[in-house]
Amino acid sequence: MDKFCTSDELYHELTMMCDDLPKSYLIKQKRNELNKICTIEPVPGQYPGAQISFSETLKNHVRELLENDPSYDITEPVKVKISGDGAKMSRSTNFMILSFCLLQTGEKVMSSRGNRTIAIVNGPEKYDTLKHSFSSAINEINTVLETGFIEVDGKEVKIEMFLGGDYKFLLMVMGLSGATSTHACLWCLIHKLDRWDTSQPIEHYLSLEMKRTLAHIKSMLPLKKFSVINQPLFNIELDHVILDELHLMMRVTDRLTENLIVEVMERDSNADVAKGRGEKKGLYLETLINTIKMLGSLSLSGKRRMPMERGVDHMSGLV
Ligand SMILES: [Zn+2]
Repeated sequence: MDKFCTSDELYHELTMMCDDLPKSYLIKQKRNELNKICTIEPVPGQYPGAQISFSETLKNHVRELLENDPSYDITEPVKVKISGDGAKMSRSTNFMILSFCLLQTGEKVMSSRGNRTIAIVNGPEKYDTLKHSFSSAINEINTVLETGFIEVDGKEVKIEMFLGGDYKFLLMVMGLSGATSTHACLWCLIHKLDRWDTSQPIEHYLSLEMKRTLAHIKSMLPLKKFSVINQPLFNIELDHVILDELHLMMRVTDRLTENLIVEVMERDSNADVAKGRGEKKGLYLETLINTIKMLGSLSLSGKRRMPMERGVDHMSGLV
């Protein structure tokens, strides 16, 4: 019915003519029942979007966790990770997504089945979009944070919350300015001009005067100091805020691959100078390309392939 946009009236007329079809009132009843199970609501604010109830969904997931693992120690808090990300769909459309997963569900955390979207909005990746469009979802999350537990079938289950995402998202929700601001570190108060100094041990950055805390962010808000520009949206303490490894690893491997390619090209150009006319040049680069291809170069992103293509052009220019 949904696929062909059949109206209730048309379906009703069809059932009058064909006795084999289920009666239209039965269809309506079933639809209402289904709607009751899943309550998707529009998000507040000016941008279009949809959301579900965080506390209700969390309850269902915790119930499922307890059913799947009857030996689960109820005094142990259930670890919930809230994640957010912005996704650019086209030049003009941008989506922001808020989701959560239970960290104790093992490998399901990594799959889409273990991650549940709470809210999605079609709007710019900005603090104000988050604040307005996700306001009810954020309120629900903060309420659960404050009480520290939820009630599932009469049992009190403790909840421990974490926040994840890429650095841009984390800075935004915690009320900080961008990653290029003077105090861009989310976990300490280092000035960007002092970041080069590697002589300080890690304890220095964790010391009372250097460590950033949620209370510190809030206290700096009226002064607009230490890159604090907005009220943090979640009351999650910063030691429970974790940067996604995936985003870090992607950038790190990008740099490493690029370095490797540049190094190989340098070796090639040194070796090629000594070669005579007609001798094959650029052998190191060729070996590298073949090795990467053997390991599965298809997964190389366009960005990572770029220096290599440039390298090939560069080499062919030498021949
Ligand atoms: Zn830091």
